[in-house]
Amino acid sequence: MILTVVEKELDGSAAETSLEGLTFARKLSAEGGGVPVDAVVFGEVGDDLRKDLAAYGVRTVYQVGGEAVAAYSGAGWASAILTVRQAAKSVVVMAPGSDRGMELMAHVAARAGVAMAANVLSFDGLSPFQVTRQVVGGAALEEMVLDQRPAVFTVAGHAVEAAPAESPGAADVVEHTPEVAAEDLVARVQSVEKLEAEEGSGLKSARVVVGAGRGAGGPDGFGDLEELTSLLGAALGVSRVVTAAGWRPHHEQVGQTGTRISPDLYIPCGISGAIQHWAGCSSAKTILAINTDAESPMVTRATYAVIGDLHEVVPAINEEIKRR
Ligand code: FAD
Repeated sequence: MILTVVEKELDGSAAETSLEGLTFARKLSAEGGGVPVDAVVFGEVGDDLRKDLAAYGVRTVYQVGGEAVAAYSGAGWASAILTVRQAAKSVVVMAPGSDRGMELMAHVAARAGVAMAANVLSFDGLSPFQVTRQVVGGAALEEMVLDQRPAVFTVAGHAVEAAPAESPGAADVVEHTPEVAAEDLVARVQSVEKLEAEEGSGLKSARVVVGAGRGAGGPDGFGDLEELTSLLGAALGVSRVVTAAGWRPHHEQVGQTGTRISPDLYIPCGISGAIQHWAGCSSAKTILAINTDAESPMVTRATYAVIGDLHEVVPAINEEIKRR
């Protein structure tokens, strides 16, 4: 049995990364001869969510509730997941590679006394259960054998494309109210505040992100980049050089100490691709780099690149988009 943590958006729907996780789980299930895929969800499972989980092939939805887990706590929720794991007899426990998914799986693995693989991209056989995962912020790939049970891991963003199952699952909802030890509930979330669009800038969930780095040249060098962002209905993301210089606000920063993005398309303009920046953008499906330096790490890792001055290339792209 494969147990997948499904995270909800603020509106109660399944997060895209969780649908990717379920798609990955189904691939594992197929390789294992059709072992069932179960989901664990904290809090209410609404009708729409249940239908989505059915469409993604889920057999049983463990709806975890009760006072003890009403507010998020890494240790508390992990302990609840392990009680579900016992009930579902899961040999695999997995979560999306979100901040919360990472924290939960680390707690689950530590409690179960097993290894954890973060940011798994694919697997190659079940016996042994060998996975390939991103390490060093996506700059390298590592092969790892998970021979303990449960096998615990997170799925990297965009490792697979979310796709419903050919035959839907029953998605029977089973209510589960775990007992959680008081010492596991010390660090609990007290409140969640939804940020307004300008605060969060939609960077994390944007399907297209236009990136800007030192190559923008200064605080006045963003006009064409903002226009491109608007023409594409994208979000603007920047490097730390840009935020450190005060050219743009910190909430726009992409990277290890900024936001981790996983858009379909990332267009980094005048960004060298330092490892700390790459850590935040390596999950982008397609990267189109615009840079004067053909040897910069961003260009060498990009799917496509335009070698040139962004102050010439970006206006030309904008004109072409407007012309069409
Ligand atoms: P540079 O490295 O200076 O690169 C500028 C690029 O622009 C070059 O490739 C150049 O060829 C190109 N260029 C110049 N002019 C033009 C032009 N006119 N047209 C086109 N291309 C041009 N960085 C982050 O981004 N995010 C983080 O979260 C982050 N966290 C960090 C955490 C730590 C602990 C540390 C030590 C560093 C962190 N950094 C982070 C900083 C990181 O190491 C780099 O210094 C930074 O990413 C470089 O920003 P940049 O690419 O804009 O600038």
